[in-house]
Amino acid sequence: MPGIIPHRHCIVCGKAIEPDKTFCSDNCQKEYEKERKKQRNFTLMMFALLFLVLMFLMAMGH
Ligand SMILES: [Zn+2]
Repeated sequence: MPGIIPHRHCIVCGKAIEPDKTFCSDNCQKEYEKERKKQRNFTLMMFALLFLVLMFLMAMGH
């Protein structure tokens, strides 16, 4: 479309940024990495919990 400059949006705050960038600032990058780590920890915790429940069920059976 004419008149529209190619650009992206910061995936954290949604600000318009250059097409080769993912974040508008170091702050937003840090924010994103913090969030990603939190999410990974949560996933790991869920797996650990599932594993424990499975172990428990196996110990209960037979
Ligand atoms: Zn941003």
